[in-house]
Amino acid sequence: MGRVTERAPERSNPAIIIVSHDNAAFLVDEFGRYSRDYDIRPATSARTASDISTEIEATGGHVAMYVADSSLFPSDAPQDQANVLAAFHTWRQVVPTAKRLVVAPWERFLEDAERLRAGLGKGKYDAYLLMPRGKRDEEFHTAVCELLSDWGSTVAQPEVATVKLVTPGQDALTLAIRDFLDRMGMPHRVYAPDSEVGRDIVSRYDGDPDGDQRWPLVDSPYSEVRAPATVREVAAAIYGRPDTIDLSTVADLCIVGAGPAGLAAAVYGASEGLTTVVVEAEAVGGQAGTSSMIRNYLGFPRGISGMRLAQRARNQAIRFGTRFFTGWEVAGISSEGDHHVVHTDGGDVRSRAVVIASGVAYRKLRAPGVDDLTGIGVFYGSAMTAAREMEGYDVVVVGGGNSAGQAAIHLARFAKSVTIMVRRGSLEETMSRYLVNEIEWNPRVEVASRCEVAAAGGDGRLEWIDVKDCDTDEVVRRNAEGLFLLLGAEPHCDWLPHDVARDDRGFVLTGRDVPKSLWLDGLPPESLATSMSGVFAVGDIRAGSMKRVAAASGEGSSVVPLVHAWLSRPE
Ligand SMILES: Cc1cc2nc3c(=O)[nH]c(=O)nc-3n(C[C@H](O)[C@H](O)[C@H](O)COP(=O)(O)OP(=O)(O)OC[C@H]3O[C@@H](n4cnc5c(N)ncnc54)[C@H](O)[C@@H]3O)c2cc1C
Repeated sequence: MGRVTERAPERSNPAIIIVSHDNAAFLVDEFGRYSRDYDIRPATSARTASDISTEIEATGGHVAMYVADSSLFPSDAPQDQANVLAAFHTWRQVVPTAKRLVVAPWERFLEDAERLRAGLGKGKYDAYLLMPRGKRDEEFHTAVCELLSDWGSTVAQPEVATVKLVTPGQDALTLAIRDFLDRMGMPHRVYAPDSEVGRDIVSRYDGDPDGDQRWPLVDSPYSEVRAPATVREVAAAIYGRPDTIDLSTVADLCIVGAGPAGLAAAVYGASEGLTTVVVEAEAVGGQAGTSSMIRNYLGFPRGISGMRLAQRARNQAIRFGTRFFTGWEVAGISSEGDHHVVHTDGGDVRSRAVVIASGVAYRKLRAPGVDDLTGIGVFYGSAMTAAREMEGYDVVVVGGGNSAGQAAIHLARFAKSVTIMVRRGSLEETMSRYLVNEIEWNPRVEVASRCEVAAAGGDGRLEWIDVKDCDTDEVVRRNAEGLFLLLGAEPHCDWLPHDVARDDRGFVLTGRDVPKSLWLDGLPPESLATSMSGVFAVGDIRAGSMKRVAAASGEGSSVVPLVHAWLSRPE
């Protein structure tokens, strides 16, 4: 183990800053396995770590992670010097995007856990780990890799891009395509037309991007260079069309929607021997896929990004033989002989049973200017990619639910300021306590209560919003370069046939909730079965569902035995 020096490195990889008075040399050695891809920068005090961070930021570099000893100083140091949480707070002002890891030596692990646990709950740091006690502590390094991977997927430009976009500016379509690719976990980069890569792609395009075709150009290994008019066109080019399925094939199970409910149905259906097809209108993951960090899903103590959870589930389902068609909206279901036909613009899917897992979509804000600026400063949902574009901007999040809270915390990693705007007096009634705590602690997030957005405007993109005071009706104009609308949700159901009974808000009725007049032989449908024979509903679209990731995936898995029973019913 060599002596610890705080020299500047020669290369400019992202940095991992290790901060410890007593254990720096040991930790630097332990992080040696990352030294090819990251600069390991030791600091023996919190102040030195701040200086290193400032120097890295000033030269355009990145800090990927802070690894701080649970006691930054020897245990007999004054309390304020030993306070690792205060140090994180300071570093966060310099680098809001870096991951924050606390490591404790064996002899202090329990004692320091007691002192630091509340900070973990409030999101002051990302993980608390026992320092490795020997070589190849793979549990420790799995946690480190997960954090680095999460950092990489949200901030860094990928080193190797599978999809390349060429465009002269940041238009709404480019942003929407990038958001789709982010949610699909597809590494991509954007290039200017006059860059070396840009010129090469333009030269391979069979048209004129400045003529009747439009930017961006999209280059992927899956098709020739194209100038898509919609995100769905990109999705279809990469993930295929339903009409590539042989027309005579009748699947056992067709699942409409690939949120957590549809993904769980796919994993369980395919793993239990059903030929399974999933048709998804947008990106795999549904609402959950737009969540920057899901913290309450069983089995992920450090949380997991919605994209990661969804892509893992998709890969799991594919491994069992599921076919996915992404970018195709189901427009209807009809019956044909002994099976159903699921209709899309890209072809039909024939299937004996259908599971509706089409979830819910955000309510629209009906205020002047909002529609015109959607995609160029105004976004529905947390819009993962758009968050990255908010660096240095003033951002407003409208909504008081957990999704708004998560979006605000994620945006605060990039934006200059984030204001959560709600009509109610506070967030307490509508948001989980852990998120309220995180927001209270986060210096970049503030809450504006009893107000609403009355109008939005700007020259070519969002620049301002009018905010109305709900008590006085007074309207004040303020700067806002980002407006994220998380206004509660309504079901996706216009496409459903009349045979599928719904409640007065449009949610699909199942089991005993189906009106008695539609029961067969005086018996209600099975618990997740709808009023249409062989058609089931799971997740947020189902009336009375719990509107959580775990509940949706639970229903997705529970529906499979019912599908099996239906498929093997006596004729
Ligand atoms: C930002 C955000 C953060 C959240 N965080 C959490 C959290 O931390 N913990 C938690 O428990 N819950 C969280 N939730 C709630 C959770 O994500 C939802 O309850 C869950 O995703 C519901 O799953 P679902 O599969 O029923 O529907 P959805 O996730 O809504 O998925 C439905 C899918 O169906 C597709 N679809 C719709 N219509 C069609 C059609 N006609 N044809 C083809 N496809 C169609 C949609 O594109 C979508 O991909 C969050 C929600 C949001 C928006």
